[in-house]
Amino acid sequence: MHSRLFIDGEWIAAANGAMFDVINPANEEVFHQVAAGAASDINAAVKAARRAFDEGPWPRMNGVQRAKILNKIADTIEQQTQQLARLEVLDNGKPLPEAVWDMEDSAGCFRFFAGLAQKSDNEAEEQIALDDPGFKTTVVKEPVGVAAAIIPWNYPLLMAAWKVAPALAAGCCMVLKPSELTPLTALELADICHSAGLPKGVLNVVTGLGPDAGQPLSEHCDIDKIAFTGSVPTGSKVMAAAANNIKNISLELGGKSPFVIFADADIEKAVEWVMFGIFWNQGEVCSATSRVLVERALYEPFLARIAEEAKKITIGNGLDEGVLLGPLVSKGQQEKVLAAIKRGLDDGARILTGGGVPAQHQNGCFVEPTIFTDMNEDSWIWQEEIFGPVVCIKPFDSESEAIKMANNSRFGLAAAVMCADDERAQRVARAFKAGIVWINCSQPTFAEAPWGGYKQSGIGRELGRWGFENYRETKQITTYISEKPWGWYLGR
Ligand code: NAD
Repeated sequence: MHSRLFIDGEWIAAANGAMFDVINPANEEVFHQVAAGAASDINAAVKAARRAFDEGPWPRMNGVQRAKILNKIADTIEQQTQQLARLEVLDNGKPLPEAVWDMEDSAGCFRFFAGLAQKSDNEAEEQIALDDPGFKTTVVKEPVGVAAAIIPWNYPLLMAAWKVAPALAAGCCMVLKPSELTPLTALELADICHSAGLPKGVLNVVTGLGPDAGQPLSEHCDIDKIAFTGSVPTGSKVMAAAANNIKNISLELGGKSPFVIFADADIEKAVEWVMFGIFWNQGEVCSATSRVLVERALYEPFLARIAEEAKKITIGNGLDEGVLLGPLVSKGQQEKVLAAIKRGLDDGARILTGGGVPAQHQNGCFVEPTIFTDMNEDSWIWQEEIFGPVVCIKPFDSESEAIKMANNSRFGLAAAVMCADDERAQRVARAFKAGIVWINCSQPTFAEAPWGGYKQSGIGRELGRWGFENYRETKQITTYISEKPWGWYLGR
């Protein structure tokens, strides 16, 4: 396990020597310490990235050359999947099979963007037609420059991959700041990239607290682009800080995503996907479908069936066999989720199952899978992101009512619909005000498809060719090709 900052190809201590604890949320034990980077370390990292961008080989390589290194990074993540996944479980708490899945997705993400880098050589220049034959315009794509990536703790390596892979593919140089709650796999990624031959200074990783390391990074005037994933309040601070030098920004923020189930849906499939949409990764998922709307005729049978299944989920240490719900990431997150549950009860909602700390897991940051019903549409638990294994379920009577309730949110990250009538599903999918819509499922995510939200869920898109464009500038080069003099001042 690394414990130092990775700057300009070297492992170094924080300038002020500070460290912070890394805690296993399954037992609340401190198992490691990592350098607490601050403004001067951010300065050093930005300087290294700037030099690598202005003078180094990376932005000057072609896409085929960059793809070779990105593919090597993917190979190494695949080879080290088991070790990396175990580290992720210690740091974050998630069940091991989920962590393994994250590692496979991270490798897949590097491979996908290697493919785009390779293709980009042939698409780098485009001639466009103008309505004036005296001119010719070529459009070229270039890397944005020095990018900063600030990421959360719920998918530590995968969230890093979603930013590092496209940024490197485009030819950018970077500073990555992982969450202080889960810093370990980002440091491993630095090591993997270095061993794969990434030139020094291209990827710098500074661990540290949000206000001490994240804030100076988002304010830094030598950063050209900032890609942030996290909560709305922090996203808003990052956006304000980015205004310093008008940075290009993309924000992936929170959500309170609806899942609309019509009465003709298969109840077993509905229960399975609703559970996956909220209990997977302990509900610490930005796109979790945490507001469930069920058509009245199915409502009572659905409640009975999901309560029965939610009680059967095996809770425990993510490293233990058969566990499907691990601890939340930290004591602080556990307290936040328990406070949200109390608020729901205080506001008059009813708990169908769960609602507390599991009796056999008092030690660690565990919360039971919790199902709420009978809440008002304007209540706090129906409207606000809880970021834990807590789902709210309400009935509806018509398609138009379901759409209205689904869209009644300040968020717009994701939405899902399940019904037997495909025409209706397509209609509802188009009516949702959300950037990601699932039909007959919830959560499956692919490196090829755009990811991002409407409204307060963010700005811009990650993944796919849209994510790649995040890290590229578009330049027009216009040439005067006419033999005729311009004739504005001379020859009048
Ligand atoms: P957070 O906003 O608390 O922290 C995110 C990152 O920002 C961390 O690295 C943190 O250290 C840093 N940070 C904190 N204060 C900062 C500041 N003043 N300036 C700059 N950086 C600062 O979020 P979190 O608790 O780590 O993650 C949970 C949130 O992330 C949820 O709201 C979730 O919905 C969201 N999320 C969104 C997506 C998405 O794709 N839309 C994906 C994952 C998580």
